[in-house]
Amino acid sequence: MTSIKALGIDVGSTTVKIVGVDAAGNLAWHFLEPAEPRVEDHVERILVQAKSQSSNEMPLVATGYGRGLVHQATRKVTEITCHARGIYRELGHGGTLVDIGGQDSKVIAIGPKGDVIDFAMNDKCAAGTGRFLEHSAQRMRVPLNDIGRVSLGTTEEVVISSTCTVFAESEIISLIAHNVAPEAILRGLHRSLIKRIVAMIRTVGLVSPLMLSGGVAQNPAIARMLEEETDAKVVLPQHPQLMGAYGAALMAMGMAHIEMARAS
Ligand code: ADP
Repeated sequence: MTSIKALGIDVGSTTVKIVGVDAAGNLAWHFLEPAEPRVEDHVERILVQAKSQSSNEMPLVATGYGRGLVHQATRKVTEITCHARGIYRELGHGGTLVDIGGQDSKVIAIGPKGDVIDFAMNDKCAAGTGRFLEHSAQRMRVPLNDIGRVSLGTTEEVVISSTCTVFAESEIISLIAHNVAPEAILRGLHRSLIKRIVAMIRTVGLVSPLMLSGGVAQNPAIARMLEEETDAKVVLPQHPQLMGAYGAALMAMGMAHIEMARAS
């Protein structure tokens, strides 16, 4: 049995993540699963699993798109705050955080003491999110886990001119029909996503280093191309997809301290 003291759950649009932290605030346990349509039932099942990991009563903070449906949570907190908390705790410095998830992307300016100074969010257009690459990978029949590596393995690159996921799909079909190398198309698709992210970074302002969180950060081409496009150093935490849930668990832990202080 692990020594988990508090839990954070991030109910994302594509993946549900749960993290347990120990008394020192270290990420001690985690579990993630694709999001199911019946959010409340899914969360209930995941929480039963989490509770079996520890004999302690554990405070729970919920974040993410579906946080409003986590009735078991002591508190619900925005992803902006939770990602900033998680990343600051792990990396120990401020900078500009880029969080790219399945259906939205965010740029968060984090101050030297970990506070959120400003942010920008795109949840209106799939083209700046993981959905764009996922859709494209499916269309090209390349596994999602491989698209970054494949893109980095070539120097050839086509310009994808469509600014919309649906139109980009037609463009991919046409490029394949004209025998353009799949690697060059994939690289062009990554470039298109990165350019959208860089435009968001410019609205918030770039304070080096750039930091990455969210599931899409696991794609190695993202960090590399962000560095190419901005000339800034890009740093990653060990588990980028868990940073929201980790930040939530840290907030739950903070509450646990307050509760203990009140009780003593
Ligand atoms: P959300 O919080 O919106 O559910 P996440 O931050 O959990 O999003 O990220 C989920 C997305 O990350 C998936 O939709 C997928 O596009 C992307 N992703 C997950 N794992 C990988 C991987 N190994 N390589 C590339 N992309 C990935």
